Amino acid sequence: MTREELKTAVAQVEPFEPAEAERRRRMENREYFTHSYAHRGKDPDNCAACALRLKVPNYAGWILTYTAAGVPMGSRMKIALAEIEESKNGNPRYYENILRTLATFRPYWLFGKDKGGA
Ligand SMILES: [Zn+2]
Repeated sequence: MTREELKTAVAQVEPFEPAEAERRRRMENREYFTHSYAHRGKDPDNCAACALRLKVPNYAGWILTYTAAGVPMGSRMKIALAEIEESKNGNPRYYENILRTLATFRPYWLFGKDKGGA
């Protein structure tokens, strides 16, 4: 899936309501920025914040986290596009969730300068 194809798909869904967007923003910020008890116990393999920072994030729903927490994708964009394409048929509920999350937070990695929305 290309960025343009993804933008077209995102344009066809509704963003989340403001209260739901705020709930997700807070939740995903916590996921990304708070290292867990496991991390402090010197077990970063079981720390979500560490798993999210890997070049290939080893964390289910990481695209939602990056998007709602406003974290730049960097080199992960290619992986993200492949995973989103895969979810389209393999996990339609996750796909829908990703599209609505993108429509709500309109991340720079997808929308670049035409940013707008929530
Ligand atoms: Zn950690």
